[in-house]
Amino acid sequence: MATNRKGGASPLARIQSRYEGTRKKCPECGFVDEAGNWESRTNGGKIVYRHTCPSCDAEREHTFSILG
Ligand SMILES: [Zn+2]
Repeated sequence: MATNRKGGASPLARIQSRYEGTRKKCPECGFVDEAGNWESRTNGGKIVYRHTCPSCDAEREHTFSILG
């Protein structure tokens, strides 16, 4: 019973919730994608977020390292 977890959220979960919650506005046209259709996938020690603006088709991609 000696589980000693701090906060309970993994770094990956924190990145996901942050991105899903805040990065919905397109920097190109200002369209706010309420559906928040970021597509995420993990790639080795990385997580790649990709979003295509439904208004102007601008693509954004963010890559994070999830290795400490
Ligand atoms: Zn746009």
